[in-house]
Amino acid sequence: MSICEICGKEAENTWKIELGNSKLTACKNCKEHGRTIKKEIKKRKKTGKKEEKKTKRKKRKELVDNYGKIIKKKREKEKLTQKQLSNKIKEKESRIRKIENEKIMPSEKTVRKLEKTLNIELYQEPAKFKGYKRKKDKKKRKTTIGDIIKLKEK
Ligand SMILES: [Zn+2]
Repeated sequence: MSICEICGKEAENTWKIELGNSKLTACKNCKEHGRTIKKEIKKRKKTGKKEEKKTKRKKRKELVDNYGKIIKKKREKEKLTQKQLSNKIKEKESRIRKIENEKIMPSEKTVRKLEKTLNIELYQEPAKFKGYKRKKDKKKRKTTIGDIIKLKEK
């Protein structure tokens, strides 16, 4: 139990917050009025998420989940052996086998060759990330000293 330095009430849980130049102990209700020191870690996390998103945006296309099966199915339909296919796209036969077993991810170059040779599509738009935007971040963060005073008056 400690006392909230903003509203003066006893609180079970308190947070260290930064308000202007001073560091205060605040209760759950009052911590919103300053910058929670603990929350700074969360802020850093948010930046990390942004960076992650950027990376995903850069990598616009991603391989379909069952690329190996698709390649195998189409190759067999075209009556090509793994060796024949490997010759066509100038890759090692063992590599084709590993790709078909989804043990390795083919490089973009290889994917392009496979797509062209087998007339298939192996890349998909990363639909998962489309429209996945959190709008919760728009919450008001800034609180004026005036708000604190009003709060004290209550
Ligand atoms: Zn309080």
